Formats: sequence, structure tokens, C-alpha cells
Amino acid sequence: MANNDTIAAVATASGRGGIGIIRISGTNTKQISQQLLGSEIPARQACFKLFKANDNSTIDSGLALYFKSPASYTGEDTLELQGHGGPVVLDMLLKRVLALGARLAEPGEFTQRAFLNNKLDLAQAEAVADIIDAGTAAAASSAQRSLQGAFSERINDLQRQLTHLRLYVESAIDFSDEDIDFLAGEELQKIISNLQQAFKTITETAKQGSLLRDGMTVVLAGKPNAGKSSLLNALSQRDTAIVTAVAGTTRDVLKEQIQIDGMPVHIIDTAGLRETSDIIEQEGVKRAKHAISQADQVLLVVDDQESSSDDYLSLLNDIPASVPVTIVFNKVDITGTQVGETTSKDGRTIIRLSAKHKDGLNLLTQHLKERMGFNSEEKNVFLARRRHLDALTRSHAFLNDGIAQLLHYQAGEMFAEDLRLAQNALSEITGKMTPDDLLGEIFSSFCIGK
Ligand code: GDP
Repeated sequence: MANNDTIAAVATASGRGGIGIIRISGTNTKQISQQLLGSEIPARQACFKLFKANDNSTIDSGLALYFKSPASYTGEDTLELQGHGGPVVLDMLLKRVLALGARLAEPGEFTQRAFLNNKLDLAQAEAVADIIDAGTAAAASSAQRSLQGAFSERINDLQRQLTHLRLYVESAIDFSDEDIDFLAGEELQKIISNLQQAFKTITETAKQGSLLRDGMTVVLAGKPNAGKSSLLNALSQRDTAIVTAVAGTTRDVLKEQIQIDGMPVHIIDTAGLRETSDIIEQEGVKRAKHAISQADQVLLVVDDQESSSDDYLSLLNDIPASVPVTIVFNKVDITGTQVGETTSKDGRTIIRLSAKHKDGLNLLTQHLKERMGFNSEEKNVFLARRRHLDALTRSHAFLNDGIAQLLHYQAGEMFAEDLRLAQNALSEITGKMTPDDLLGEIFSSFCIGK
């Protein structure tokens, strides 16, 4: 699957910076290097060089690093040019490299080549993008664990256990004329119960990893002055999170991110959710409604002074029934009500707190963690994506189907076939059996130069 062409891209972020890096990878790398630098350079040594134009004038100067195939990130010959980090000079240098026979790399193409050359499996390649995109320190550390292979090792271990079971079942089928019934034996029960346990623990850890990556989306709803902003500030200060307001216009959906024990929580303020004739505002409302429909949780903030009337319930009309709603009665410091958690008649959780005095916030954060099944005590989490969880679930379902075939019909052949399907589903995680269009989708979400 090796590529024959040579790719190049600026690997550092756009804009001005101290250093700017251009990466080149592929069969022409050595020749490009010689023409650009005027001489051959040794592999794996930082060499200070002048980067030369066609007319031998100097485009830039800096460090050149050459890695010879297969001992490089991509597994191909690669060259890294570390010059000055200005957009103009980097553009000049990149144009020169392209003129010498490289083509512009697609997003994620360096990592895709690393994957195709077996330098990384797919879960590790995804971890590269996840380190870059990590929104919290916990997410970055667990993505690093995935890159180091913590997740892939667990998947490979599951694969080995499934292979062991398949061999056992297939040999039992071959010897089925003999007296001993292998398929009903204790040994088989032991292998199956170990596998069930392994599926359970890896799925739980992957779920934690996926929460660290994607976090949860919480929508704050409620009348003006109920205390939504105060609640948001209280939550973010408590966790000393970076609060960033990302708003296209004031009429757009306002999103902020905080974190709870390292889990990113995307908070959406829906102040703009109201009937309006303004066309731009209507678009804002449409986006807010879309955001709500995607949310994991709505917090309906109500001034505790108004908690005895049920008026606030009308605010729920714009929220789809599938999105869970928790009611937060705020400002208990005014009403003198006790901080605490109860359940409403219709089964919704009610949390009473004071955002202003930061009283009862731990009840709310604990509640949000429980809603998502997030366990901040769990260490050694590896970062996982929803597609990994989906593949794990499908694989586990095939195993369970197979076990049912065995129990009800003594169908050893069907069991073996289900085990094969369970293994195929797991292979999608590490990329051994991942459809090309999915691969394309995964790598195209990377940055250029990675
Ligand atoms: P929003 O319009 O829903 O975002 O409400 P704000 O957060 O702006 O709060 C409205 C007013 O209520 C402000 O004057 C806040 O200081 C006040 N407020 C918010 N939370 C509390 C609280 O827990 N106790 C008291 N006493 N006042 C609060």
C-alpha cells in the first residue's frame, strides 16, 4: 500500500511564531533535500543549513533533520526543515519544495502513511489527533496513553482470547464423535467467563475515555435573572477551568466550556430561545434548538422564590422529551431553603443550591457525573472514541449471540462463526479491517502537516 509520491506541508500552526516547520515525506525526499540544501546530510542529525532557491539565493536558514526509511514517523524517507516561523517565508520555502517534486499533503496524510506502513495502528493514529485536540489535561494524558498503545494492547489481548476460544471450539467440533463433550465442559466456561469480564472492563474504561474526549453537553435554560450566568461562573471558578465564550454573534448559540474533574462540559446558553420576527435571530433560535436536541442534559434554572408555582414547566416545551432535564432551584440563600437533592412528582431530579454563595454546587457536579457514568477516580484511562465503543459493543453482542447458539442448540459451528464476526468487529478499532471510506473520514479530520 506504499505511496510513491512525495508530500510536503507546513507542520506548525498558521500565523507568526519563533519557528516554522515544513515536513516532507516520500521517495523524492533525499533528492529534494540535496537540491534545497546543496549537499547530502546525515540521517538523524540536526544540521544547520541554508535553504536555497533555484537561483542559489537563500530563502531561509535553519535546522534540517533527515530520517531514512523505515526509521521515521511515516516509515518513509522524511525531511524536517525548521526555519523562521513567518507565514511569508514558510510559504516561499513550501513553494520551493513543491517545485522540487513534492505535492501538498492532505490533512492527516503523514499519519495515514505511518498507519499504512504499520508504524501505528488506527487507534494510535486517532490518538495523535486527539492529543492535538485535547480540551483538558486529563484528555491529553489519556490520549497519550492510547498513543503509547494502552488501548490497542487491550484490544489485541481480547483478540487473543477470542482466537483461543475459536481454536478450542473448532477442535471440539472436529472431535465431536468422541465421548467427551468439550462444549459443555468446565474449561470452556472458564474461557468464556474470562472473556466476558475482559469485555466488561475494557468497555467501561473506553467509556470513561470517550467521556474525557467528548465530555457532555449541558444546556442552561430558564427565565432571565434565574441565575444561569451566576451558575456558570460558579461552576467554572470552582474547577478553575478556562471559560471561553465562543459566539459567532450575540444572537448565535453561546457556548462555553468548563471541566468537571477533567471531563469537558460544554455549556450552551439558550437565552435566545424565544419567538421572534427577526430573520437572523430566527436562525439563532433554530441553531439553539438544534444544539438542545444534541444535548446530554438540560439544567432548568429557576429562582427558588418562584419554585412553588409550576410556571417554569412551560419552559420545557422547546426541549425534546429525549433530553433529560434536571431542575435547579437557585437562590436558596434568599428563601432559606436547605441545600439538597430531591425528586419531583414526574421523576425529575431537583437540586436546590445557591450559585451566588457556591453552596450546593458539589451536588450538581456529582449529579452530572452520575448522569454520564463518569468516574473521576479511575486512573489509567485511555482515550477512546464513540466508534470504538460501538465496535466493542457489536463485538460483545456477537460473542453473546454465539454463546446463546451453543447453549440452546449446541451449535458449535454457529458459535465459531459468531466468534469470527466478534473478531472482525474488534479489528475495526485497530484498523485491520476498517472500510476505506471510514479511514478517509478519520484522517481527513486531522490538521494539515500531521
Ligand atoms: P441569568 O439572567 O439567569 O443569567 O441570571 P444572573 O446569573 O445574571 O443572575 C441574576 C441576578 O440574580 C444577579 O443579580 C445575581 O447576582 C443574582 N443571583 C444569582 N444567583 C443567586 C443566588 O444564588 N443568590 C442570590 N441571592 N442572588 C443570586
